[in-house]
Amino acid sequence: MFDVDAIRAEFPIMSRQINGKPLVYLDSGASAQKPQVVIDTITRAYAEDYANVHRGLHTLSTISTENYESVRGKLARFLNAASEDSIVMNTGTTEGINMIAYAWAMPRFEPGDEMILSVMEHHANIVPWHFLRERQGAVIKWIEPAADGSLDPQAVIDAMGPKTRLVAMTHMSNVLGTVVDVKAICRAARERGIASLIDGSQAAVHMPVDVSDIGCDFYAVTGHKLYGPSGSGGIYVHPDRMAEMRPFMGGGDMIREVRRDGIDYNDAPMKFEAGTPGIVQQIGLGAALDWMTNLGLDAIAAHEADLRDYTQSRLAGLNWVNVQGTAPGKGAIFSFTLDGAAHPHDISTVLDKRGIAVRAGQHCCGPLMDHLGVAATTRASFAVYNTRADVDALVDGLELCHDLFA
Ligand code: PLP
Repeated sequence: MFDVDAIRAEFPIMSRQINGKPLVYLDSGASAQKPQVVIDTITRAYAEDYANVHRGLHTLSTISTENYESVRGKLARFLNAASEDSIVMNTGTTEGINMIAYAWAMPRFEPGDEMILSVMEHHANIVPWHFLRERQGAVIKWIEPAADGSLDPQAVIDAMGPKTRLVAMTHMSNVLGTVVDVKAICRAARERGIASLIDGSQAAVHMPVDVSDIGCDFYAVTGHKLYGPSGSGGIYVHPDRMAEMRPFMGGGDMIREVRRDGIDYNDAPMKFEAGTPGIVQQIGLGAALDWMTNLGLDAIAAHEADLRDYTQSRLAGLNWVNVQGTAPGKGAIFSFTLDGAAHPHDISTVLDKRGIAVRAGQHCCGPLMDHLGVAATTRASFAVYNTRADVDALVDGLELCHDLFA
């Protein structure tokens, strides 16, 4: 039985008032709130168990290292990776994708080599590839979504040619909520010797993810959306690709020995984790993953599917709301514009006065905004602690915006 009231009670921030109104938090797509267990784990890690990791032989360093390293296994199990050695821990998706660009792609892309992206990608899965285009003459092929925001996997497969080296694609759009059939894309890529990178920043929060079943080469997640601390995360790297990667950042921990005339690297995945990591952030992420797993990823997905359906039915009654993205099976993420002069920033400001937090802008998706022909949208994104009452509050707030701006 999914008890959303009990879940809300675990999030201290849910009892906060904003502008004198109870918080209605609809910006989890940007970053999720944190349950008490994550906050307590962070506090305990600093108050009782803190020391640097991998370096000391003293008791606290051993405890801290064990707590930190245990998260590698938690991430591996969360993503169903065959081994925890396939997980490189990092500060989140942006670092993960940049690492793949520098460590794996840059050494192997020749001028004219191609990569395939969808126009739905977040800038974190675009800008590192523009670096390759600008610096090494790589060619980016763009795949457009259909009018409902769905992405035809066959269109991606048809774009694969003899010069394609990489397909980099989101699993769930942070604007449209579209879920992409990444398994079909990754299977076709593998058959053609093309590497596949999946941006799981949104998907991993809202549905069970199985990288072994998907068959991808890289799968990036970001901890702060997974109810964990900011500056935490990880990326799954297929062992064959891990063996092909050259170190990205240099420093402590990623080496075994440093001499005046050379270096011996540590084994992967440590080879790709230079310097003191976000020790406590990562330990907090471990608590968040345990918390999500205990709730049940299928139960979370079912709760959010109910919120999605309810939101769809309520917004359908407002013929002056233009929802972007109606693909079947989409996540509970709604981007929209209102008829009339209301700018998303104005909508967001009016809603904020009612304690409702939404995001307004481009959502780090410039090419998608161009594709949609809009300068910006308002986005309401739902998570495990949201209720139908939150949807009703949003709709009431939008009606007020309509009255004010239409
Ligand atoms: N990819 C997607 C789909 C996202 O929604 C986000 C965050 O908004 C990112 C990548 C970037 O994540 P981070 O800023 O945590 O690295």
